[in-house]
Amino acid sequence: MNNFDSASRLVIDWIKEYQAGVEKYPVLSKLKPGDLLNALPQSPPEDAQEFAKIFSDFKEQIIPGVTHWQHPQFFGYFPANTSPPSLLAEMLISALGVQGMSWITSPAATELEIRMMQWLGEAFGFGPEFKGVIQDSASSSTIIAMLVARDRAAQDQIGVLTAYCSQEAHSSIEKAAGIIGIGRKNLRKIPVNEKQEIKLDILKSTLEEDLKNGFIPFFLVGAFGTTSTTAVDNLKGLAEIAKSHSLWFHVDAAYAGSALILPEVRDMAEGISLADSIVVNPHKWLMTHFDCSAFFCKHPDLITASLGMTPEYLKTLGAQDVTDYRDWSLGLGRRFRSLKLWFVLRWYGLSGLRQILSMHVALAQKLEHLILADSKFEMMAQRKFNLVCFRAKGSCAQNKALLESLNGGGRMFLTHTKVDGKFTIRWVTGQTDVREHHVLEAWEIVRETWDRLETSG
Ligand SMILES: *Cc1c(COP(=O)(O)O)cnc(C)c1O
Repeated sequence: MNNFDSASRLVIDWIKEYQAGVEKYPVLSKLKPGDLLNALPQSPPEDAQEFAKIFSDFKEQIIPGVTHWQHPQFFGYFPANTSPPSLLAEMLISALGVQGMSWITSPAATELEIRMMQWLGEAFGFGPEFKGVIQDSASSSTIIAMLVARDRAAQDQIGVLTAYCSQEAHSSIEKAAGIIGIGRKNLRKIPVNEKQEIKLDILKSTLEEDLKNGFIPFFLVGAFGTTSTTAVDNLKGLAEIAKSHSLWFHVDAAYAGSALILPEVRDMAEGISLADSIVVNPHKWLMTHFDCSAFFCKHPDLITASLGMTPEYLKTLGAQDVTDYRDWSLGLGRRFRSLKLWFVLRWYGLSGLRQILSMHVALAQKLEHLILADSKFEMMAQRKFNLVCFRAKGSCAQNKALLESLNGGGRMFLTHTKVDGKFTIRWVTGQTDVREHHVLEAWEIVRETWDRLETSG
């Protein structure tokens, strides 16, 4: 009764319609917890069902529970932006159904990945000494960096290992410390200055103190674009400290790293090439579907020493000196993710991608000017890329009410953070299709909503 030909036509037509009409949906799903769960049957069907029925249920039951990340007024968190070439690549990846754990399991998956990571490294300005691999997430990339650094440090020393990052560093670093077994409490979170950047003098004194107390410092993380405010640590200064203490230096550029394709951003990342490893997520701001996290490392031999496993059943006969990316990854199986990068980088060219990212930064700049020109609002952190941190001049509770009202309205989605203990609204202009009118319209709604809240007390 079901066949791929007619079913796929339904799906493709719907995708085209969705893309053209995404703006008619409320950005944030209006479902309450449990709504969908309760509407779904308790047990799987015994008999085959018509695809037409499955698909109409998709539209009626699933879509209302979707938050529309590709809506141009999705301004929350960081984007997970996509693009037509990335979508087409995802479709082909699905069609091929390749599991690229070893070179032999699809030579194209491995060799395209090697070349795409070289392309990306060059586009970001990293030297050829970095070798690349695609991971599912920055969290995994950071776990691997910390794990490999641990194995290197633990080779000739016994004792408690300690790692270092700023208080503003991403939660995935603390999670990694727990996962790799050094213990969350042995990650030292160093205070930041008024620009939310790690304080080098406190880092140095903490290191001295730890050494005096017999700890073994082994790992240092620098942030190129923190999640809260996109603050940028002094990477050159951190690299020097890492060198003098023989620490593995890892740079978390998960979000802002994509902006390194812009020449004017390179200066802000001075010292990044002194890192041992770097992570950048093209799945956030480089028009490439989740998942695609680019992990660069100068010591691939150490990665494979820590993660390599070749039981008899995975030995490849007749292929020597090939890269088996399973030995660079936490899991064994791997998706054919490099095809997305190949399509995206060729569809736009670096110049096309630079145009999009520059436009996103210009939109944030525009928004920043509007906020600065409005006496009822204030900026809460320096804008560096396309994230604007601001608040209405009122209490934290009032700002929270403002945010809830905006998100409940369906016309936009914003998230929040705390800066210096104050409730702060985060607005990122990084969605692929966002244009000036989307920002201007949303800003008007913000102003009107705040006026209404203020007058209603
Ligand atoms: C988003 C983010 C991460 C985590 O990314 P995942 O790919 O979701 O694991 C880590 N660090 C920073 C700075 C981020 O912004």
